[in-house]
Amino acid sequence: MAVAEHIRCSNCGGPVDFQPGELIATCKYCGFTTVIQTGQAFVFEHSVVQNKFDEPQVNEVAKDWMTSGFLKPGDLAKKSKIVEKQLVYLPFWLVSVQAKTSYKGVFERITPQIVKEGTINKEYNWLVLAREASDFPTREYDVPLEGKVPYDFRKIEGFAKILNSEIEREEALELTKQQVEEHHRFLLQQEVDKIIETSTDFNVKQIVYLHAPIWFIKYEYKGNSYRLIIDGASGSALKGDIPPAKFGLL
Ligand SMILES: [Zn+2]
Repeated sequence: MAVAEHIRCSNCGGPVDFQPGELIATCKYCGFTTVIQTGQAFVFEHSVVQNKFDEPQVNEVAKDWMTSGFLKPGDLAKKSKIVEKQLVYLPFWLVSVQAKTSYKGVFERITPQIVKEGTINKEYNWLVLAREASDFPTREYDVPLEGKVPYDFRKIEGFAKILNSEIEREEALELTKQQVEEHHRFLLQQEVDKIIETSTDFNVKQIVYLHAPIWFIKYEYKGNSYRLIIDGASGSALKGDIPPAKFGLL
C-alpha cells in the first residue's frame, strides 16, 4: 500500500500530504501550491471551479437521474440507497490552443479520384485529467469555465477531498497535442479517404492548472452496488452505472 509523505508548506508551515507519483501538491490549510520535486512554488495560473451543490441537493440530482431515461429499472429511485457520497476536487490541465493541420490526401469517392489539399484550423480549450489512472470520462466532461475563479482554499468545503496532480505541465501539453492531432485525423475522414501527408502546428495561448468539483456516488440496488459521477458545478450526471432492467413476461 502506498504511504503518504509530506513536505512543509513554505507559505504557512502546515504539513502538505502527497502520495507517491504526485508532482504538484496543494496545501489544504492555505491553498499554496508546491512543485514537490523542487519544493518551489507553482508559479502558473491555478484556478478552481466552484461547487454549487450541497449533500441534500446532490441526493436530489442522483434521484432525478435514477428516474429519467427509459433504460433504467422503473423502481430504481425508490428501491436504491445512496451509501457513499464524496466531493472530490479533481486536478486538470486546461490547454488553450490553436491547432492548424495541413493535409494532403486522396479523395476516392469520385471517379477519377483526386488528390486534395487543405487545412483544418480550430481553437480548443483542451482538458487533460492530471491523474494517471482513472476512469473519469474527460471527453464527456464539458468543464464549466464560467464558474472558474483563482484558486482559494476558503472556497473548498472542509469535507471535500483535493487530489494532487500526477502530470506535469509539459506532459499535459504533449498529451494535448497528441489528442488534438488524433481528433483532427478523425475529422479528416470527412475530407479525404486516404491521407498522404499531414502536419499540425500549435499555437499555445494558455495552460491553466484547474481543480473542478466532482461528486462520486455509490448506491445500492437489490444487493449490488453501482457508481454515479456528478458534475458539482452544473449538476449533470457525467457517468452512471445502470442496473440491468428486468423485462419480465407480463
Ligand atoms: Zn499552507
